[in-house]
Parts: sequence; structure tokens; C-alpha cells
Amino acid sequence: MTPKTLLEIDHLRTSGQMLAAVLGYLAPLVQPGVTTAELGEMAAAELKRLGGRPAFLGYRGFPSCICISVNEEVVHGIPDQRVINGGDLVGLDFGVSYNGMITDSAITLGVGRIGDDAQRLLAATREALSCGIKAVKAGARVGDISQAVQRRLERDRLGIVEELAGHGVGHSLHEEPWIPNFGAAGTGPRLEAGMTIAIEPMATLGGKAVAWGDDGWTISAADGSLSAHFEHTVLVTDTGAEILTKA
Ligand code: MG
Ligand code: MG
Repeated sequence: MTPKTLLEIDHLRTSGQMLAAVLGYLAPLVQPGVTTAELGEMAAAELKRLGGRPAFLGYRGFPSCICISVNEEVVHGIPDQRVINGGDLVGLDFGVSYNGMITDSAITLGVGRIGDDAQRLLAATREALSCGIKAVKAGARVGDISQAVQRRLERDRLGIVEELAGHGVGHSLHEEPWIPNFGAAGTGPRLEAGMTIAIEPMATLGGKAVAWGDDGWTISAADGSLSAHFEHTVLVTDTGAEILTKA
């Protein structure tokens, strides 16, 4: 919640650029036939080459550097021998630590030909992230972000995952404040210049309920419907937001 120093912000910018570079490198490699474990290894190797450290590996015991969540899986999927198929929706959620400063970002990709509903889900969830970011500036409230995200997702009648949320980020992967994807403008903690926050809409083509998998990590749509997740780490400024994890 505490604003970051100028030096810390500088490290966060580098961290965010590394993160964007790794996701940009990985995205075209998400093709039919590749396993999620192979994608995880490629992400780890590319980040090492760039000089960053993975922020997720070992976090509360998480066993990989990246979360890869396929189709009805919303977040926190663990890379394994699962083979990606054409038509899949693949969520890549990655975290980078550079000089101790952490950024967090996620994208969801359609592999090959995906259905109209899946395209609508991706577009609306990506736009919901933009709407949330547009609500950011010093003096605004967390509820302003929440309401902007909620309205965009509701326009497409998507299920809003309410049990998970965005969060402060920087020194740790998860800091205050909690940033829900639903809420009322004018409520919640006030944003200050220098704060760094991760905004991350998560939505489904069905209901809002999620279920935890047997591995203790993977969180899926309870009704098995397709889901999407987009996330950026942003710096709060006096006039708006600087997106730290944008290429
Ligand atoms: Mg994330
Ligand atoms: Mg996050």
C-alpha cells in the first residue's frame, strides 16, 4: 500500500519490461502439440537470459515459474504433460522479480480457430482490464476500478469470478489493497501516486463460481465453462496509470 520510491519504481519498470518480453516470446509458441511443461521451461529459460528471476516459483510452494490455465481453468494451473490443442484457450500468468521488485501480468490466447463465444469472452475480458486501468489515478478509489471492470464484463453477460481479485504488488507478489472485479465507485481505499497495483479481470462464459482442483492450486469454473484472465501491473500517477508490464 505504501508508495514505492523512485529507485524501486525504476526496478519495477525493468521487471515489467522483462515480463512483457517473456510473454511476447512465449505467445507464438503456444501451438497445438506443445505441452504446458515445455512452455514453462521456455519461459524460465527466456527470463534467465534476460536477467530476471521468476516470482512465482516457490511462492507458497508453487512448483513452477508460470501458471498456465487451459479452457475452464481460470488461474493457477501448474505446467505438466498436458498437450495444447487447436481451439484451446490458454492463460499465461507470469511474475518477474528484478532487484527484489516484482511485477505480475497475464494474457489469455486462443489457439487456432476458436468459437464466437470464446472470442467474445477474450475481447470483453481484455477490454475490462483497459477499463479498470482507465479508472486509475491518484485520488481515485479502488471501487472505481472495480466498478469499471464489472460494467464491461456485465455488458457481455459474463460470469465475474468474485473469489479472486487484483492486488497491490512490488515488494511482495500480493500486497494490499485487494482489488475486486466488482464493486461500487467511490468506495474502498484511496489510490496514491507511487503505488503499484495488479488489476486482473477473470471471467467465464457461465457462472461466477470456481472450484479448487485436487492439486491444491488449479482454480476452474465450477460449471466447466470457458474462462479468460488478463492482468497488468500499473503504477499510479497523478494523472493516470503507467502500465509497467506493457511491451
Ligand atoms: Mg498474475
Ligand atoms: Mg496477480
